[in-house]
Amino acid sequence: MGLVLPLVIACTSTGQTAREFDGATAFRYLQRQVAFGYRIPGTPPHAATAAWIDSLVRQRADTVLVQSWTHVTGAGDSLPMRNILARFRPEVAERILFLAHWDTRPISDNPSWTGARTPVPGANDGASGVAVLLGMADALRARPPGAGVDLLFVDGEDYGDFQATPEDVLIGSRYFARHLPPGPRPLYAVLFDLVADSGLRLLPEGQSVLGAPEVVELVWRVAEEAGHGGVWVNAPGSGPTLIDDHVELQKVGIRAIDVVDFDYGPRNAWWHTPEDTLDKVSTASLQVVGDVGMALVRRHTASH
Ligand SMILES: [Zn+2]
Repeated sequence: MGLVLPLVIACTSTGQTAREFDGATAFRYLQRQVAFGYRIPGTPPHAATAAWIDSLVRQRADTVLVQSWTHVTGAGDSLPMRNILARFRPEVAERILFLAHWDTRPISDNPSWTGARTPVPGANDGASGVAVLLGMADALRARPPGAGVDLLFVDGEDYGDFQATPEDVLIGSRYFARHLPPGPRPLYAVLFDLVADSGLRLLPEGQSVLGAPEVVELVWRVAEEAGHGGVWVNAPGSGPTLIDDHVELQKVGIRAIDVVDFDYGPRNAWWHTPEDTLDKVSTASLQVVGDVGMALVRRHTASH
């Protein structure tokens, strides 16, 4: 026990503080989602995952709003859809929205993939963003935020073909944008997608820079201040430009950005393939993303 006190002092003197976002717990949330199986709309694992997210956030948030509807695809199939919105301090006008998609892709369609077009396990594409949001829910439960915080789990991001059937992707975010909850809009919104890659490197995404440049600047500055500038690299023009859930929010005037690492495996070879598995993702990556999410929340201390 004699060593404990000097170690504590050493940590304090280097400016480190206890991390309120627990990456190890977030990783277990990621593993749990993968264990459900493919979270493809209309399947039992999809329904089970929704029930699991719902039950976790009900134990942590002040209010939970669920949007349930049926999406009819271009091919005429009816899919049960569910968005889950976990609200912390719903009475506060000054709000921040964080979102992630919780569904996974029914077929592998990476252009470089030559194997069977089987479903995507979604350890990174789906489970990672949800794991960050759930880890944030734990931290927000432990210590309520000064601002209002909304954690949105959107469905149906990855169902269809982004080129051939654009109505069958971004389904949940489009529905949310058309059915915004009552009350003030968020100051800004941050989407987390593909954020658990073991070799995580976060570059500003093009549509985010175009649509909400001041949010990009804020988020990467906060990441730098949190000591994560090695992963969050704000090199102008260096990131990809993507169609993702943030675009649907931007369409209705919400200042939304996409935090995404679109370099998953050698030349993105694991993205949208059966290779999107647990061995490719890490606790450390979830930690540096969750730290920044919570640092954004903690900038707001006023409680009016
Ligand atoms: Zn995807």
